[in-house]
Amino acid sequence: MKTPLTCRNYINGQWLNAAGGSILESRNPALVDEVVATFPRSQADDIDTAVTAARQAYRSWRKVPAPARAEYVFRVGEILLQHKEELAQLISQEMGKPLTEARGDVQEGIDCAFYSAGEGRRLFGQTTPSEMPNKFAMTVRMPIGICALITPWNFPVAIPCWKAMPALVCGNTVILKPAEDTPACATKLIEIFAAAGFPDGVINLVHGLGEEAGKALVEHTNIDLVSFTGSSETGAFVGATCGRTHKRVCLEMGGKNAQVVMEDADLELALDGAVWGAFGTTGQRCTATSRLILHRDIKEKFTAMLRERTSKLRLGAGNNPETEVGPIINEKQLQRVSQYMDIAREEGAKVLIGGGIANAGSLKNGYFFEPTILDNVTPNMRVAREEIFGPVVALIEVTDFEEAIAILNDTNYGLSSSVYTRDINRAFTAMRDIEAGITYINGPTIGAEVHLPFGGVKQTGNGHREAGTTALDVFTEWKSVYVDFSGSLQRAQIDNRG
Ligand code: ADP
Repeated sequence: MKTPLTCRNYINGQWLNAAGGSILESRNPALVDEVVATFPRSQADDIDTAVTAARQAYRSWRKVPAPARAEYVFRVGEILLQHKEELAQLISQEMGKPLTEARGDVQEGIDCAFYSAGEGRRLFGQTTPSEMPNKFAMTVRMPIGICALITPWNFPVAIPCWKAMPALVCGNTVILKPAEDTPACATKLIEIFAAAGFPDGVINLVHGLGEEAGKALVEHTNIDLVSFTGSSETGAFVGATCGRTHKRVCLEMGGKNAQVVMEDADLELALDGAVWGAFGTTGQRCTATSRLILHRDIKEKFTAMLRERTSKLRLGAGNNPETEVGPIINEKQLQRVSQYMDIAREEGAKVLIGGGIANAGSLKNGYFFEPTILDNVTPNMRVAREEIFGPVVALIEVTDFEEAIAILNDTNYGLSSSVYTRDINRAFTAMRDIEAGITYINGPTIGAEVHLPFGGVKQTGNGHREAGTTALDVFTEWKSVYVDFSGSLQRAQIDNRG
């Protein structure tokens, strides 16, 4: 077994223990006896120290020209490239995803660095004519201030990068509170940010539990913005608290994403999409396919194909090159997924394959769950409505395209969606009528790219989009600037036409 890493907070350019000295540990979900890292159990006083540092640094960071701020972020991308394999191995060890996916997690951070850095030379505003003579009008983006970034464990490198990189390019200073399951990944990432040479206090890291360090961040009165990705329950608390304390807030929460397979679809292609969408990252992506809406003409055939393919998926530790499906992140989540099997059976669904904790051979050392297909699911069942966040997919039969779209939309969430069809009219109808932030035609529900907006409608989000140029709208505010060079008082909002 490897020696556990000792992780610390990073505040004002220094690596620190929590003031109270308490520590927590993270474990390898494929080998639960293995402690991956120890990390500080930070409290409100540690948060306060980080906020003071970030506030102090903000005074000068916001004045660093945006192209120069972007160069730091570009350098993070270059250093990430050099450490890609090392970081991917750590992700695999601490979070459990197969190495190929872990490399993708880091690559997403690299892509985000180079993409965000380019924005340092854009950050476009507008110029527009004034109503009055000898007057100039324009808009400019302003940074917001101190941004708290609260992130989950499922993309332990990509998601912090998605948030921190555009925030920094826009001139904000940041405090990252990563998930308690993946502190080592966050620490290595922040080591890379530190190596890029940001001035002290511009980027800070505070470890700890959600209900302690996370809550203290959200409640702190000297923070200007919270960007949160996680569960809907926590997101509701974060949103309410930010409302009460007048903070900007960007929320990315749950999903109940569906893939529709019509009778005219290329079934092999749809099968590849369904298997990857449902079981990739062990179903632990907010964009995972958790409902498969199947046209009745192909339902039986497609189900047989899916069952056959699912039965062959290889479970194992992420660092085993044979592994296709890694472990569930922790014991609590494993039990949650398991409980949904009882709920499914009680409501009349049928467990077609899987449905249990996998503990044969070396799997007994980790939190593994069998890839599971639930059949005979109807739209009102809990397994069709609630986010399970595991390798479980529910099959729902429909008789026509309109019913398929209606069922796809019949959810409180609206993150990702997918339709497999060869009919161009159906494809465009789906693009228009699906209520989701992301729609794929003939592709699975997972697979976002950093230069397009990412986020969802309804209870998935609160109207913001991460990634793409839309991330700039999260991390800046607009200022309208008027320059009057007439030398006399010109009055707007007065009827000048008379
Ligand atoms: P998940 O179920 O995916 O772990 P959570 O919403 O519990 O999702 O966690 C996502 C992030 O939110 C983590 O960094 C976690 O520590 C943090 N968190 C959890 N509870 C709170 C809270 N009450 N206030 C602020 N952050 C929290």
